[in-house]
Amino acid sequence: MAETSLDTALHRSLTWPDVDPARNPFDRTAAAGIVRAIVSAVPVDADHGQRDGWRDEISRLLVAAFGIWAREWCWSPSPGSWHGGRVAAWCCTKHSVASAEENQACVSASLLDWRDWLEELAERFDRLLPDPNLAPTDLLVAWEAAIADLAHAASGRMARDGWYGYFTWALCWLRSRPGKWCTSRRPSLILG
Ligand SMILES: [Zn+2]
Repeated sequence: MAETSLDTALHRSLTWPDVDPARNPFDRTAAAGIVRAIVSAVPVDADHGQRDGWRDEISRLLVAAFGIWAREWCWSPSPGSWHGGRVAAWCCTKHSVASAEENQACVSASLLDWRDWLEELAERFDRLLPDPNLAPTDLLVAWEAAIADLAHAASGRMARDGWYGYFTWALCWLRSRPGKWCTSRRPSLILG
């Protein structure tokens, strides 16, 4: 059964230090070989629970290999998964599990998709984070511009309607960057 999208995503929150590319180096060339070694086929007669167990084991092995940031490799827009994400190559264990070769390609593409988003966010954060020394009026304008930029980036990369999950997380991470890491399920900047 599909879980509630936004609550689930935030409940499973990672902090920006958890996912910051600068703190979590990633060798894309080596990753391809590691993913091939990790990802296996799923028996054709596997039931839903066994398929989900396969996905969870893949997640555990990816985290062990690359760090906790890799956990969200399968955060797709699909309501059959965790919904509200943007990883395009993965849908859910009902539709995305196939042969070993196909699974390896799917997991690898999904992991890189997630990593690409984190690296894009890091670049945007460097540009967008308002200077706290600005005058209040200018600070408000700077935050409005930052929020608009992140919303545009999140919605522009989504093929379906799940962009809000990424946007919410991105905004939470941006707001937390000065040193107070946000792990709240309800980012106060958005929800008051
Ligand atoms: Zn699906």
